[in-house]
Amino acid sequence: MASKKIVSIVKGQRPFTALKIEEMVRKAVELVGGLSEKVKSGDHVVIKPNLFAPYPPPVSVDRKVIASVVRLAKELGAAKVTVIEGVSVGTLMKRINLYSKSQDMARGLTSIEVMKLLGVKKAVEDAGGEVIGLEDAEKLHVDIKGGKALHRVNYPRLVLDADCFINIPAMKTHTMTMVTLAIKNLQGLLDEKDRYFSHRDDLDQHMVDINKIRLPDFVVLDGLIGMEGMGAGETGSPVEMGIIMAAEDPVSIDSIASMCMGIDNPLIVGTTRIAAHDGLGIANPFEIEVRGNAVEDVKRKFLLPFNYTQPIDTLVTGVYPNIDLYIGGACPTCWLMTALVEGTLGSIPKRFTLIVGVDPKVPPGFSPDLEHTFFLGDCALSTSGDLKEIRNAMLLAGIDNFLGGCPPYEPALVKLESILMEKGYINEGDLINKAREQQKKFFDYYKGQDETWEPDL
Ligand code: SF4
Repeated sequence: MASKKIVSIVKGQRPFTALKIEEMVRKAVELVGGLSEKVKSGDHVVIKPNLFAPYPPPVSVDRKVIASVVRLAKELGAAKVTVIEGVSVGTLMKRINLYSKSQDMARGLTSIEVMKLLGVKKAVEDAGGEVIGLEDAEKLHVDIKGGKALHRVNYPRLVLDADCFINIPAMKTHTMTMVTLAIKNLQGLLDEKDRYFSHRDDLDQHMVDINKIRLPDFVVLDGLIGMEGMGAGETGSPVEMGIIMAAEDPVSIDSIASMCMGIDNPLIVGTTRIAAHDGLGIANPFEIEVRGNAVEDVKRKFLLPFNYTQPIDTLVTGVYPNIDLYIGGACPTCWLMTALVEGTLGSIPKRFTLIVGVDPKVPPGFSPDLEHTFFLGDCALSTSGDLKEIRNAMLLAGIDNFLGGCPPYEPALVKLESILMEKGYINEGDLINKAREQQKKFFDYYKGQDETWEPDL
């Protein structure tokens, strides 16, 4: 019988000082055999952390975990250690930039701005490494051998050329993939276009296919503070876990990490199940040896996103008294986007009509208030019959309430906010205040964990 895959779990107690985190990282790495076989003198080591948005842990990986891995690689003789990250599509396109010097409300932060803000750039440089934002990295067109949903992408050359590639994911729930761990973390290596169009129902397969380009040689997972609920961004909530994990196999570490999050059958996580099916690693917990702490010692029952605990239609249909929804055949992604659009429209004291999906059925003589009618997603926009007449009438009246896209993702949500601002239903001040509240929630929380941290941009 083939030998088992090994995953380590190291639990520590607060306070998590830089020294303690470094000890935990070293112990977790040693328990799975160390890095000395992976990193040789003169090597170029490339590290991909999860820096999702302009917020510290648990939204992004702790800078001290990244710096510990950089130091470890340098000690083993690495000539160069580069930390690369591409922040989320929402951060690049939609999140309000509270640091902009512009008089007008600015949206979007670059990866390097987020690295500076979180103190990652300084921590990495102090440890002897360097950082690069994905937007600034040279890309190559890469054909994905064995890709099922993704076949050709632009991919950073330095990851392909690295002598050793280390993945540092966070431990979070995710509204579209249930959890985000090692397999999902490599999405941040795709450019904006490739990432944007992967947010459909084949998202899990997309994530697995990205890993087929280059599997990491090693994974160090930051589980010091996890995230539960409607992750992986502002609407998630912190969970104190106090663990660092490590493994060579990204599938095995995802399997065990999801069990630590209270998911007793790790194969219900799509990325884990599909990655194992496609031969990227081992997901079956009976074929994995856990060293250090046991899963039972550290396990917490994370709240999963609502859309994984109750049927999605309970969040969408019959919820908002001021919204008449006509939804035809639609993918779960469009159902989720409908929930987000309704969340925005639902708080405005007006009556709205929302059209979503393939061929929604509308009553004969359907005649909604055009000013307050929205079409969401490319399927709705290509529907024929009565709805085509409604669209034509809106076009002739100069009403562009068309929130297109497949999936209708961040640009559709930005457009909705612009339309509502133009109509005077919301204003920039509201959006900026909301962004400040979200920022305060995560900044205050993390400063309670690490008073040495100051945002820096
Ligand atoms: S636009 Fe249509 S195909 Fe695209 S995500 Fe929505 S329902 Fe699915």
